[in-house]
Amino acid sequence: MLLDPSQARAVFLYALEQRFALLAVNADSPAAVTDVLEAAKSEQAPVMIEASLWQLTGQSFGAGDPALGLARYLVQIALLANAERFRDVPVLFHTDHIKGPVTLPLLRSAIRGLPTGVESTVVSPSTISLDSSGMNEADNIAALCDLGETARACGRLVTLEMEAGVDDGITPLDVTERLLGAVESRIPGQLALWAPGVGTQHGLGEQTAFSAQAVERHQKRASEVAGRPLGIALHGSSGLSEAGLHDAVRAGVVKVNWSSESLLLRSQSAQEFYSTRAAALQKGHPDWKATAMDHGVQSFVSQRYLPRVRERIRLLGGSDRAPGCLAQLRHLA
Ligand SMILES: [Zn+2]
Repeated sequence: MLLDPSQARAVFLYALEQRFALLAVNADSPAAVTDVLEAAKSEQAPVMIEASLWQLTGQSFGAGDPALGLARYLVQIALLANAERFRDVPVLFHTDHIKGPVTLPLLRSAIRGLPTGVESTVVSPSTISLDSSGMNEADNIAALCDLGETARACGRLVTLEMEAGVDDGITPLDVTERLLGAVESRIPGQLALWAPGVGTQHGLGEQTAFSAQAVERHQKRASEVAGRPLGIALHGSSGLSEAGLHDAVRAGVVKVNWSSESLLLRSQSAQEFYSTRAAALQKGHPDWKATAMDHGVQSFVSQRYLPRVRERIRLLGGSDRAPGCLAQLRHLA
């Protein structure tokens, strides 16, 4: 089931209490989304799907139009996650690394509800973040508060992740105090995740500077500033060791973004599929059609990819957590 912003908050809180993290997969095709949900179902785990601007504008979704892309992404994920097959899998959809001039208009529309083209139905993400890497502190605060105020003005709930310098080494605690303090005073209660720099880097490089102590310090200070428990979102997890991931979760990480390694796993599997079937893609070959159709390569990729997603979910302690999450959601209702 696809969770709304208030259900998302309850799941993050539960993850923090129970010390597990949700795998948040940056998925760039409908096939990737299906694979992630299948993996989560097999592990009985909650899971997050997230999309960046380049996916929203890509051919699978908006074909140049980010608002159309976000609506199309959300409609597809809502349809799949709310199907009987995935009724017991808590699924969160998150906007990740949205940047540039389109950021605020796009995210405001998402909070108000994006039109689906079907009668008066609208769709909204479970949780929202934006890419603040090019922003100073004042702009970062202003952008988050703009989103919170948009939600308040239209009477809808939003659940926000705030980030600062995720690729710039370890964020000083006084930055956490200034940023979260300012946002909490203007839009109290709308932040659920804090993503400071904790020594990781986006990409596939080895993560030698990661500090679980920094995660722990930030989780504590962020919660003190907010006056309620806030979990940490970890960016740049692809090159992190298994021990590093364990330590991160123990220290208070509740959401682990996974993009670079996931993309590479999928594209290398596709490369293997086509490179080992070159002859079958010739006219007249009896298997050309089965080889040429999207389903051919996608099912091959699934076989390689699913076990890796499941392994990642297990590493984060997410297996068998779906029933506990659903019980939390029943308390909300
Ligand atoms: Zn990131």
